Amino acid sequence: MKLRTKIIATSGPSLCTQKDIEAAVLAGVSIIRINGSHGNPKAFQKVATVVRKVEKKLKTPVGLMLDLQGPKLRVGVLDPALQLKRSEVWELSATKKASQDDKIINIAFKGLSKSVSLKGRLFMDDGLIRTTVVKIEKGSVFIRVDHGGELKSRKGINIPYFQGSLPAITEKDKIDLKWGLDHKVDFIALSFVRHPKDLDALRKIVKQHPSKMEPLLIAKIEKPEAVDHLNAIIDKSDGVLIARGDLGIELNLQKVPVIQKQIIDQCRHTKTPVIVATQMLDSMRYKPIPTRAEVSDVAGSIYAGTDAVMLTGETSAGEYPLRTIEMMANIIQEVEDYNIQKLFRKKPEDFSVQNHKEAFMFHVMQLASDISAKAIVMLTKRGTLTQLLSKLHPKRPIYSLAANEVAYRKLTLYWGVFPIETKMKLAPKRIEEGMRFLKRKKIVKTGDRLIFVYWDFKVDNLNMKIVEC
Ligand code: PEP
Repeated sequence: MKLRTKIIATSGPSLCTQKDIEAAVLAGVSIIRINGSHGNPKAFQKVATVVRKVEKKLKTPVGLMLDLQGPKLRVGVLDPALQLKRSEVWELSATKKASQDDKIINIAFKGLSKSVSLKGRLFMDDGLIRTTVVKIEKGSVFIRVDHGGELKSRKGINIPYFQGSLPAITEKDKIDLKWGLDHKVDFIALSFVRHPKDLDALRKIVKQHPSKMEPLLIAKIEKPEAVDHLNAIIDKSDGVLIARGDLGIELNLQKVPVIQKQIIDQCRHTKTPVIVATQMLDSMRYKPIPTRAEVSDVAGSIYAGTDAVMLTGETSAGEYPLRTIEMMANIIQEVEDYNIQKLFRKKPEDFSVQNHKEAFMFHVMQLASDISAKAIVMLTKRGTLTQLLSKLHPKRPIYSLAANEVAYRKLTLYWGVFPIETKMKLAPKRIEEGMRFLKRKKIVKTGDRLIFVYWDFKVDNLNMKIVEC
């Protein structure tokens, strides 16, 4: 299926077998996400092996994203679960045992009393239990329940503007990251980014890895601190993921759509890939059809200019993973069939062309339209120019010929880009050969007009050539 907006599906019990993942890719998924919060390298390996098998069988690239858990706080083991009622005051303690009668919740983090502020908000279980800090003592934090519920073992805790010190990359993340780098994952997402330097820390570890792999580093925006440092974080990342799950807990929900729009706009400005995630078709976890509002949310994200949309619980643990992917693909197809003509017609002033490469790609896009080219063909080494062109959202498809499997898989994230692996050397003098290759693959046919874009080493600059097939 030729979707310009890419679909990322999260693996899990409902999406893990070769049959599941093959069907998912055939239905339009281009990247499989492994959620580091659920599992260890042994479990991740199973998914990765299946993904690579599917890729080989279907002869199509499938990107692999490892989403690192990050510094997520959790309550301890609560057996039995605790019942928290409105107005009750509970003690959060790292040393005392959990108790319903004494109203104690144990938490496996010693620094909590130094991490919260009086009258600050503290949320548990995906924001379903909402509390306010009313007293702070050495080693304990007392909270008043504003909205209660049942609190089960290991549920997450969210503290907006957390004051304490937590490493951006935890010991678990380091173990998972090593696995990811050893096994050449294509994208590494970092959860709970608070500051641009969190990305520096991740990049440093990646650079030190002996494989010299360069996965794309994706910053998950889910903390108010990250929103405060948004532009600097985008500048440090290779891609951004709008993690609306935690973002909607840490910030008032009504702020999420506005922040989503701001992030998408800033990422278009900086030409950074952006992913909208979480609860996109949430009701399909239990039902075979989504709500109208969910369908509109997916469509709205595409109109706004996202590069990819991501399914989380719907595919990892839902009852209808494949139907959900098919629904997502149908919405994308419908929006793109209607919209591609209108929405993405651009005037130069709609763009912040920042340098001569961007200006060049902008004019390639215009030229493709003016001469009714069938497609733009990029001869790609690292994918940088392809990324630039993709962010301009050209009407014409972008075929990116990549001779290197690492670059080839990264292209799975870019809007409007269809990666094609070739063993061919990507020199300008091989354009004719490239065209014959695309014809053999039945991607283009005799009479089609193409624009080839490549780096011309002779003049050490960008170049392009119009070719009639
Ligand atoms: C989110 O919070 O929206 C998200 C995608 O992250 P996670 O699944 O790790 O909670």
